[in-house]
Amino acid sequence: MRTIGHFIDGVESNGHSTQFQDVFNPATGEIQARVALATPADLEAAVASAAAAQPKWAATNPQRRARVFFNFVALINRDMQELAELLSAEHGKTVEDAKGDVLRGLEVAEFVAGAPHLLKGEYTDGAGPGIDMYSMRQPVGIGAGITPFNFPAMIPLWMLSPAIAVGNAFILKPSERDPSVPVKLAQLAVEAGLPKGILNVVHGGKDVVDGILAHDKIEAISFVGSTPIARYVYGAAAQNGKRVQAFGGAKNHMVIMPDADMNKAADALMGAGFGSAGERCMAVSVAVPVGEGTADRIIEALRPRIEKLKVGPASDKASEMGPVITKASQERIKTLISSGVSQGADLVIDGRDFALQGYENGYFVGPTLFDHVTPEMDIYKEEIFGPVLCVARASTYGEALNLVMDNPYGNGTAIFTRDGDAARDFAARVNIGMVGVNVPVPVPLAYHSFGGWKASAFGDLNQHGTDSIKFWTRTKTVTARWPSGIKDGAEFQMPVMK
Ligand code: NAD
Repeated sequence: MRTIGHFIDGVESNGHSTQFQDVFNPATGEIQARVALATPADLEAAVASAAAAQPKWAATNPQRRARVFFNFVALINRDMQELAELLSAEHGKTVEDAKGDVLRGLEVAEFVAGAPHLLKGEYTDGAGPGIDMYSMRQPVGIGAGITPFNFPAMIPLWMLSPAIAVGNAFILKPSERDPSVPVKLAQLAVEAGLPKGILNVVHGGKDVVDGILAHDKIEAISFVGSTPIARYVYGAAAQNGKRVQAFGGAKNHMVIMPDADMNKAADALMGAGFGSAGERCMAVSVAVPVGEGTADRIIEALRPRIEKLKVGPASDKASEMGPVITKASQERIKTLISSGVSQGADLVIDGRDFALQGYENGYFVGPTLFDHVTPEMDIYKEEIFGPVLCVARASTYGEALNLVMDNPYGNGTAIFTRDGDAARDFAARVNIGMVGVNVPVPVPLAYHSFGGWKASAFGDLNQHGTDSIKFWTRTKTVTARWPSGIKDGAEFQMPVMK
């Protein structure tokens, strides 16, 4: 059986690991590989390798560091098909969707090839008599990233690209459920010319994360995953004096105004609700039609689309939606669907009994649609992270806006309408980090930044865009005066500009 090792100092190996975790094929339920789980000695080896390599990398001029990213981007493009197939085999999403996962990460690697420009500091000529003042951004040293299962290419690339391009060494702790792609990306980075030790990958769960949170040589930590773990990571890392950003779960609503094009809104809900089996932090899990007529029309538009949705393994090119990640996740989703029924929601389409010949042991859940969902129900309160779309009817625009605003999560939201006033009001007032106007999954491009509000993100700087350059660097400000500008005699008052 294939073993997925750590990637430390430019080499893939099992290091000191004595424990391994099974990696499943979610479409069949079969074990296809095992991943080594890091010991404290493995993390120590990764940190030592990073610490040895980082000063020279930081001293490499930014243009040369950027060239590694030009090569890296070319190599990812060269191996796109292989990466996407590897990703699909462990995650379960379709190969086309997996390509999107890789591409959305690749775009951040492209963005940071502009690091020489992004790192330019500020300069004040003549801040005082004979005094100049300038600020520069310097790498933090060693950064670490802890990533979720649902985007095993995109999210590691979101973190490692800016961290490394600005001169840090980086330790990635990817999800242990689909660990192959992160290792392959690290191998490609070395092939692209990245010095050994600048990017290390260690596998594992809570133990390894705790080791990272406590390590005195790791200066900054980026986390993406579920809200309870994000909250924990944020608190523990801050307690240990580290710079930390932690992104959590979501419950994204799409408001549908009566004037919206119902066919377009239904198409949008199909992709945003059931794409990647609903396992996206920007998935739309709640549709909020405004007015009874709108609700009836959207349900009628959704029903035939859902019935036609082709569910199957990623290996079947015709599949539009794959399985969910684990058996435990499949069971949890089915239990939540049952709770929706017992708590009084109308189950319009039931995905619990979905079965596919030849894939009886796969972790499939059929697309599921609920109507008349209310905020007290578990299917509304919980992040289901599966192919379950809830319709929560609102009688007015104000009621719809309040529903979105009262939700504890704040990752993404969208409004579908032809009314510019309503769209503008929604975008201005809603307390959510990423807003779509007739765009169901408003994930910003690499040169803007990505991040939610409320329980969806802890910390003040977002992923990618210029925020990421700030997160992975520290500001240093120099005030300089040369001897010809210095007056004789000591000054005992607080220096002020006269
Ligand atoms: P998860 O929280 O279970 O795991 C995330 C990471 O934390 C993994 O690397 C995992 O090994 C580690 N981990 C797990 N348990 C831990 C513990 N007790 N202590 C310390 N570390 C632990 O998340 P997941 O199931 O892999 O991913 C799905 C979740 O991620 C969803 O909630 C989704 O909304 C969220 N997500 C958020 C964003 C965002 O940008 N806000 C993006 C993608 C996914």
